[in-house]
Amino acid sequence: MKFNTKVIHGGQHHDPSTGAVMPPIYQTSTYAQSSPGKHKGYEYSRTANPTRTALESALASIENGTYGLAFASGLAAIDAVIKTLKSGDEVISTNDLYGGTYRIFTKIFAQYNIKFHFVGMDSLANIESKINANTKLIWAETPTNPMMNIIDIKALAAIAKKHQILFGVDNTFASPYLQNPLDLGADLVMHSATKYLSGHSDVVMGALIVNDKALADKLYFIQNASGAVCGPMDSFLALRGIKTLHVRMQRHCENGKAVAEYLRAHPKIEKVYWPGFETHPNHAIAKKQMRDFGGMLSFTTIGNNYKAAISIVENLKLFTLAESLGGVESLCGHPASMTHASIPKEVREKTGVVDSLIRLSVGIEDQADLIADLEQALAKI
Ligand SMILES: *Cc1c(COP(=O)(O)O)cnc(C)c1O
Repeated sequence: MKFNTKVIHGGQHHDPSTGAVMPPIYQTSTYAQSSPGKHKGYEYSRTANPTRTALESALASIENGTYGLAFASGLAAIDAVIKTLKSGDEVISTNDLYGGTYRIFTKIFAQYNIKFHFVGMDSLANIESKINANTKLIWAETPTNPMMNIIDIKALAAIAKKHQILFGVDNTFASPYLQNPLDLGADLVMHSATKYLSGHSDVVMGALIVNDKALADKLYFIQNASGAVCGPMDSFLALRGIKTLHVRMQRHCENGKAVAEYLRAHPKIEKVYWPGFETHPNHAIAKKQMRDFGGMLSFTTIGNNYKAAISIVENLKLFTLAESLGGVESLCGHPASMTHASIPKEVREKTGVVDSLIRLSVGIEDQADLIADLEQALAKI
């Protein structure tokens, strides 16, 4: 089955009791048993729920994996991954990680004596220099937020394999439409399904997809034992979102390219970070591992002018100033004062998060309207 068919049919079947084409929202916490332990496959909805099962099968299918697990949020999914580790274990991750991931690593799990190293993953030597006998997980994100750096998944997978370390990729920014980390050698894929997978800014959800049965069993155990599961209504919404992922992503990519090119040519813009540009430092890797370049991009104003950046985000009308990304509607954000505000200025500036940096999640509205909106906001600075 090709991807465009998988998003609609992958792992899906009509409801066995009624023939319903979409799985019903099984809004139930528990299931009748005819005799203790005798039931139809479901006992209690933390453990399993048919609407969630349908979503989990779809998730596995679209990432070319065997097992899918859905969680209450992206961070709940990451929480489950780190709970496969134990005290004394070490993790190597990127130095421009999603802020919430950085927070759960350093503020929650560091307390339980799990050690985290944050390195620039453009250099494989950087990564190898941190590997020791306690290293149990390499955690990557590509493209990264908000600088749109690209990490070579295949190269990282080879290092992880050589040292027998679990390798997980946060595939939120790319979505399975653009890249499939399991096919490139990763052991585990994670999504904030809140973003492109659900795609309509109406759900908070996380996902994990793996191929290895032993790893899947460990994660299912944690999912049930820790209990950060999503409800049937959210499962239904995410499943509905996934069915249009391919058409939405195609438009996100087209609009992303048009907006990136418009901004690059604008005299008031200094830099545009978008992996589709040949001048992007990791363009060659992006071209190799991604099918297109997506609708996420960041830019700075001439002279790195903070006031100009604030004026732009205040004056944009179609681009709503908001956290999050990956919905049908265009959003803009100012990382230095929003998502990255808790990171000291000197530290964030080292990775490129300067005062005038603006991040765009380019939606699927009409391209000309989006560009006209940027035009009017830029005319005011
Ligand atoms: C949003 C996001 C997360 C966290 O997911 P939630 O659903 O908000 O918990 C993790 N990684 C990336 C890259 C994200 O954008």
